[in-house]
Amino acid sequence: MCGIVGYVGARDVTPVLLDGLRRLEYRGYDSAGVAVLNARGTIEIRKSEGKLQKLVDLLGGDAPIGSLGLGHTRWATHGAPNDMNAHPHADCTGRLVVVHNGIVENYAELRDELRACGHTFITETDTEVLAHLIEEELKGTQGNALALIGAVQRALKRVRGSYGVGVFDQANPDLLIAARHFSPLIVGLGDGENFIASDIPALLPYTRKMLLIDDGEIAALSRAGVHLYSLAGDPIERDPLEVSWDVQAAEKAGYPHFFLKEINEQPSALASALRGRVDDKRVYLAELDALDFARVKRVVLLACGSSYHAGLVGKRVIEEWVRVPAEVLIASEFRYAAPMIDGATLAILITQSGETADTIASMRLAKAAGAQTLALTNVVGSSITRGVTTTVNLHVGPEVGVVASKTFSAQVTLLELIALDWARRSGSLEAARIAELAHQFGHLPDYVQAALGTDNQMQQLAEKIWTRKSCFFLGRGFGYPTALEGALKLKEISYLHAEGYPAGELKHGPIAMLEPDMPVIALALQSATLDKVVSNIQEVRARRAPVIALATEGDVATAKHAEDVVYLPHAPEEFAPIVATVPLQLLAYYVAIKRGCDVDQPRNLAKSVTVE
Ligand code: GLU
Repeated sequence: MCGIVGYVGARDVTPVLLDGLRRLEYRGYDSAGVAVLNARGTIEIRKSEGKLQKLVDLLGGDAPIGSLGLGHTRWATHGAPNDMNAHPHADCTGRLVVVHNGIVENYAELRDELRACGHTFITETDTEVLAHLIEEELKGTQGNALALIGAVQRALKRVRGSYGVGVFDQANPDLLIAARHFSPLIVGLGDGENFIASDIPALLPYTRKMLLIDDGEIAALSRAGVHLYSLAGDPIERDPLEVSWDVQAAEKAGYPHFFLKEINEQPSALASALRGRVDDKRVYLAELDALDFARVKRVVLLACGSSYHAGLVGKRVIEEWVRVPAEVLIASEFRYAAPMIDGATLAILITQSGETADTIASMRLAKAAGAQTLALTNVVGSSITRGVTTTVNLHVGPEVGVVASKTFSAQVTLLELIALDWARRSGSLEAARIAELAHQFGHLPDYVQAALGTDNQMQQLAEKIWTRKSCFFLGRGFGYPTALEGALKLKEISYLHAEGYPAGELKHGPIAMLEPDMPVIALALQSATLDKVVSNIQEVRARRAPVIALATEGDVATAKHAEDVVYLPHAPEEFAPIVATVPLQLLAYYVAIKRGCDVDQPRNLAKSVTVE
């Protein structure tokens, strides 16, 4: 989830790298660094933790000069975001450098093997193994261009996980190598110069001619041209693409807003959150090894906003699958209550930014009372991760839109995986049920992709409701947190008042609000309580309020009770808060557009809430 820029040509390379990184900074800003082959023929590496500007300040008037180089802006996954862990990373000799986007899942075993061969590691990153692996593969070769390409191919064949990588070495001043597997990377074609970047916008000031690299391919760039190969070494022919977008549109990948882009990238974001943690039959989160589950008699999930809604799902699956009592508390309430916390408690702290002041304060309280603590966050090395027993990172890349979209769906996904892995470890759920759920998680990105197919319909429904004063969202079971999240989205970005309610609770008060002008959005997906939800829908209809039902594909019986029905794919009911939130995000988006709101930066909100 980082930004990579690389260049080989005749220009002075550092300004090209910094300019490209500036356009990619939205992808990560934990640290930034450049490596340049200088006029003396040696590689100079400069890097700094923090935003790109810190690197620019550090370079001052003394930037390395050369015409082959790589730049990187990091979004840390392995190792704290500090100077040492900043990319580029070098081999033992400092004669070869690598930048990387993604995760080397088998880095620990590769590192042990390389250490045994005499390699010295100086960072905590997974990336550093790549530099040493290539160094190892180069041994005994002539070290020329073909040898370097071959060494990179052999090294990458040993890697499990995801990567976009850039590589160059001192021995080959006219060669820049790029490769990708499940992480973005493109080649830009110039005249007597060539480029690589994580994303098209970084290169638009220099060229509009792009060569797309596919997963499992490697590109060798020189000043004169670019050659593409498979990892097996077979040459590949591909026509370049002429890009016509402007720079600003390109950063949003053609979407008018980051929020819409981030809604649409949920299938790939969830695939990334799941990668290495679940396969067809098995679930395993290495991060949970640090916890002593045998000690846990009670769970408290502490969070604010959308994270609180994700926590409600976490409570449900922990109680259902692990059979340990769980409670979800709003962090700002918890910290001033008299919480019953002790050494038998597991506190799960959920915060997208990792900087939420109330959640951090709650973590400290829980820790002081002897609880084990688990942080669930999207920002590696953020404040919440300091001092907790363990951290589970979402791995979905930076979220730029201020209101949560992909981070909410990833929080729910990870809380469910945590519960499932815990159930596996404790034996509280049958192996066959675990295997079936693990298998279903493999299909989650497809279910979410199918839910994105409601886009047009949600746009039409937005036309119907945007002038209303208020809306209700109703659900039961897994539909209840989904209703809360749907209502919050609408409030946050469109300023249309909305209430999320447990469907069965309506008659205990809020039913008094219903009138023909008050749309009710009902979560009516297949579940054990669907009949009850249908009865609640009828109660609403009897008060002449219009109902929009979210129902499972093919469920015409439920559809009959509503004015409008939005069909969603047939998925396990545990996935409802992920799959059914997608159309609700889209609804909020289109209502906000109709009402002329600032979608990516709604009034009064902030991406990370660092005050109480
Ligand atoms: N896994 C690498 C790291 O943590 C790369 C992360 C990125 O994509 O920025 O350093």
